[in-house]
Amino acid sequence: MELSEQGSDSEFYEIDCPVCDDGKKHKAKILRKMERGNRIIMEVECEDCSSKGIIQIFKIAGVEIYDF
Ligand SMILES: [Zn+2]
Repeated sequence: MELSEQGSDSEFYEIDCPVCDDGKKHKAKILRKMERGNRIIMEVECEDCSSKGIIQIFKIAGVEIYDF
């Protein structure tokens, strides 16, 4: 498993936040990011509700799975 820590250089990702749940895209700060085969797994924090969660992105299908 490869794990890269993000320092103060913030990276952001647009998510359909399941906590805000308003059908809009929310900006989330990427806390951690790792790649495993055809998946990207990111730990993110929603800028609007401050919830932290995990997003798995399947690169081939383009499917995103949220775990908040
Ligand atoms: Zn949110």
